[in-house]
Amino acid sequence: MTTDVTGPPPTGHHLEWGDLPAKQQPTWGDADALERAVTTLRGFPPLVFAGECDQLTAKLAAVARGEAFLLQGGDCAETLDGVTGPNIRERIKTILQMAVVLTYGAGMPVVKVGRLAGQFAKPRSADTETRDGVTLPAYRGDMVNGFEFSAESRAHDPSRMVSVYHASSSTLNLVRAFTSGGYADLRSVHTWNKGFVAGPAQARYEKMASEIDRAVRFLEASGVADAEELRRVEFYSSHEALVLDYERAMVRRDSRTGLPYNTSGHFIWAGERTRDLDGAHIDFLSKVHNPIGVKLGPTATRDDVLGLLDRLDPERTPGRLTFITRMGADRIRDLLPPLLESVGEEAGKVAWVCDPMHGNTFSSPSGHKTRRFEDVIDEVAGFFEVHRAAETWAGGIHVELTGNDVTECVGGSGALDVQDLGLRYETLCDPRLNHQQSLEMAFQVAAMLEA
Ligand code: PEP
Ligand code: MN
Repeated sequence: MTTDVTGPPPTGHHLEWGDLPAKQQPTWGDADALERAVTTLRGFPPLVFAGECDQLTAKLAAVARGEAFLLQGGDCAETLDGVTGPNIRERIKTILQMAVVLTYGAGMPVVKVGRLAGQFAKPRSADTETRDGVTLPAYRGDMVNGFEFSAESRAHDPSRMVSVYHASSSTLNLVRAFTSGGYADLRSVHTWNKGFVAGPAQARYEKMASEIDRAVRFLEASGVADAEELRRVEFYSSHEALVLDYERAMVRRDSRTGLPYNTSGHFIWAGERTRDLDGAHIDFLSKVHNPIGVKLGPTATRDDVLGLLDRLDPERTPGRLTFITRMGADRIRDLLPPLLESVGEEAGKVAWVCDPMHGNTFSSPSGHKTRRFEDVIDEVAGFFEVHRAAETWAGGIHVELTGNDVTECVGGSGALDVQDLGLRYETLCDPRLNHQQSLEMAFQVAAMLEA
């Protein structure tokens, strides 16, 4: 409500971006079509408001101080066709269910952030893909091109950015309706969780589930379950700020302060492949006032971390910067300690979050990209061990998940096997935890938080 949405269009007072090297960008080809798309986006209202971004910064400051835990999750790649009521509902439901379990385990607030309403572009390791002797541009996410393997579909089309804006807008609309309209009521979420614990994972999680049940019954008996705080939740959007034509076109100035915000999402991050200190993505993040993240993979050095801190958070504003580590289960215990040491005293000024997905991907014999549930859990366990030893706060998890019953990651109580991957393998990019695996993860991470 505080962003100037009614004033003059942003054209004319947008920022100067310069022409720093930008990796992983589309090659749009049609300059007129690009100009039309960018002009259209610049004229649209913001998807999120600056004041909400500031609220999220304040919540992430609590994460940095060790007083809250972040749960960030959603698709690897959203698709335009995937923007349906049931898909969005099931994803939100899964995250809310996980959040209740984690809140119980942590005994502190859980900050809920979806990888949604903007997560439509993907960095790729190769520019092209060859099938049966035909070579075409790689799929870069629905913001850029289509998944179907044809020359027409794989061409980079700037008008897709406008479609992504509308898809994000309707996603956010439903998310806001669900989270403030009564659907997120603690008692409903708790009832869903009871349904989960009645399933195959029962024996394993029964104890914590019955403790949570007692806690909720206590709230009800005390008459506080009707309190507004338990009937609605604050839920934020996030995505990788990858396609700069889209992200830059969504920058608006906050009418209260004149400061620029990227209004395409509350929280945005730079990926492992685009976090170069001298690149256009870090420059972009440095210029907007949203809370931001940077992924740190196995090659991240002490200088990278200190450089990012200075570039992105020179004032050391708590909550401004989150480091999302994604080292792999077998390396987190060796690679994270030196990075924490390199920031020393300042480690507490940023939030540290674990992405246990991207360092644990492998290909099954059937050719499916997959991850083992047990590796995912082991990376989170390693992340907790390292932070405990360093006396820093293991601030949260960043997960690729869906509320649907897909077969993309193996393992878990359902004992999903590599042979089962073909059954319902729906992702167009990385494998996601399904509904059951996501809830199991919440129970296991809650136990780590309690320990
Ligand atoms: C992602 O989050 O989907 C992703 C591509 O991650 P990373 O940049 O860590 O590889
Ligand atoms: Mn991914």
